[in-house]
Amino acid sequence: MNGLTHQRCLNHSVREAVARCPECGHFFCRECITEHDDRVICTACLKKLTKVPLTQRRGFASVLRVAQCGLGILLAWFFFYLLGESLVSLPNSFHEGTLWKSHGSDEE
Ligand SMILES: [Zn+2]
Ligand SMILES: [Zn+2]
Repeated sequence: MNGLTHQRCLNHSVREAVARCPECGHFFCRECITEHDDRVICTACLKKLTKVPLTQRRGFASVLRVAQCGLGILLAWFFFYLLGESLVSLPNSFHEGTLWKSHGSDEE
């Protein structure tokens, strides 16, 4: 860590640098530097490195989520459609709740 003591963070001019980013070669403080794949790298370079795959993954995930959501709605709709169909296909007396009522009225 010799030689770093005189270096200041690129983002924080008042803070002492603790590490040097191997990607951009700038010095950064503890807050601005992160570990990534066993390497000490600045957040800016980390963003640059992870930007493309992350957005792709996120885009894919969002597409997957939308697809799942759509599928869920479709399944729910299908379920209620089947439920409605089964209710309609039931005898009208049962559907209207008069099946049990008719017992009393028929025994006149
Ligand atoms: Zn960097
Ligand atoms: Zn900093």
